[in-house]
Amino acid sequence: MPDLHDLRNLTDELPGGGEVMPLLFVGHGNPMNAIEDNEFSRGWADIARHLPPPAAVLCVSAHWQTDRTLVTTMQHPRTIHDFYGFPEELFAVQYPAPGYPGLALETQALLRRAAAGPDVRWGLDHGCWSVLRAMYPRADVPVVQLSLDMSRPSSWHYELGKDLATLRSKGVLIIGSGDIVHNLALVDWEHPDGAYDWAEEMNETFKSSMMRNDHRPLIEYQSFGRGASLAIPTPDHYLPLLYILALQRKGESIEFFNDRVIMGSLSMTSFTIK
Ligand code: ZN
Repeated sequence: MPDLHDLRNLTDELPGGGEVMPLLFVGHGNPMNAIEDNEFSRGWADIARHLPPPAAVLCVSAHWQTDRTLVTTMQHPRTIHDFYGFPEELFAVQYPAPGYPGLALETQALLRRAAAGPDVRWGLDHGCWSVLRAMYPRADVPVVQLSLDMSRPSSWHYELGKDLATLRSKGVLIIGSGDIVHNLALVDWEHPDGAYDWAEEMNETFKSSMMRNDHRPLIEYQSFGRGASLAIPTPDHYLPLLYILALQRKGESIEFFNDRVIMGSLSMTSFTIK
């Protein structure tokens, strides 16, 4: 196995020429977006056309929840169908993007506070591949996933995100995939286009903090009170947001797309930072 010095050289050879890659947060919503040609999947395809071509993707997905921080190190990550009750067509989807063991090891080295471990069992979950399938349909961009250590508080995730900063200068597109408002128990299947008042309000509250570059209340989201406990009943879909915000550099601005709450309690709101 090469040592970390060699691996650092490996990623130094990534194209990108030192240009700082934008950041991307995606509200992934319903897994069916992976196979439907709809406004959201078209939004993902469109954003990929407006980003510099990445040498690799590092994805923090809501759906990889662990009790420590792990990074996928396999050469050929499998496509994980981590959902139930959907059509066969969705289970048949494969997204055969390669892994990138060199990037995975460099990521582990950067995440000193987490003592991040290697993983060879996970792969790509639907939080990751449902979006990437629209963005990079040829599956030719290598992908590494970073897990969410669910034993840690939100402030810890924000601080951990900062450790990834140098990857942006190496052509790595860092993607957070979740939903800033996500309450599955309250999803309104009868009104797919509708949104509860509290869900709209919290979505706008979170967005206005982001537009002011005011990250503190977003990290301490419980301080938003009852609205936050409805929008974030569990933190899994919210935490990927904190990794992306943590990497925002001074002077960079945020641009929203797919900016809508659907099915009552799911926010599709997505954004780039550049
Ligand atoms: Zn999800």
